[in-house]
Amino acid sequence: MAAYKRILLKLSGEALMGDDAYGINRATIVRMVKEIQDVTALGTQVAVVIGGGNIFRGVAGGSVGMDRATADYMGMLATVMNSLALADTMRQEGMTARVMSAISIDQVVEPYVRPKALQYLEEGKVVVFAAGTGNPFFTTDTAAALRGAEIGAEVMLKATKVDGVYTADPKKDPSATRYSTITFDEALIKNLQVLDATAFALCRDQNLPLKVFSIFKPGALKRVVLGEDEGTLVHV
Ligand code: UDP
Repeated sequence: MAAYKRILLKLSGEALMGDDAYGINRATIVRMVKEIQDVTALGTQVAVVIGGGNIFRGVAGGSVGMDRATADYMGMLATVMNSLALADTMRQEGMTARVMSAISIDQVVEPYVRPKALQYLEEGKVVVFAAGTGNPFFTTDTAAALRGAEIGAEVMLKATKVDGVYTADPKKDPSATRYSTITFDEALIKNLQVLDATAFALCRDQNLPLKVFSIFKPGALKRVVLGEDEGTLVHV
């Protein structure tokens, strides 16, 4: 039995790269979609926010002298590309997905309209929220927290390279251990980087729990949704 009725899954753009240096790796995106399919099969409603780091990041543009806001809009458009790829892969795998954009590009994807998103979720469709928050100077983690709170997701699931939040960087400190659960306040005091400050504040203020888990561990997403001890739960 699934532990959650509705989840917001945050995937980084990098998660789509696989072993490639850039862009979308076919085998990787198919594997990711199959993991999502396993969760929808449990009856859990799934909304997804995907980043754009595999294509373009605002800070990268800013570092070569670009106007930061312009670079951020490019980053948001990168998330639209990833969202389209994700939804199309879902279609190929026999799932039904809808992409909704925070920036109006109506010929490409429909705009984000909250009641419509809720309707799609109730109908069992996967909703992919594209273009982040629609504003420069924010991240897709913040978009995930925002949309997660808006749709009343019970949890935000952040798929990362590491299988949870550790007492120290496990790559540098072999004695580091994984937290099974930790509060937002403890994470703040211990200076554990679980989310950027804006996303972190939103989750904490809106009482949206965050589960950090590994995207590289096969079946981890399903185990998280089944409520098993996978990753780290950050809560109020
Ligand atoms: N971005 C933005 N506003 C948002 C979300 C994203 O300006 O609300 C831009 C920002 O430039 C960011 C890029 O889109 O660098 C890609 O998003 P992010 O870096 O969060 O992607 P990820 O690291 O998860 O792949």
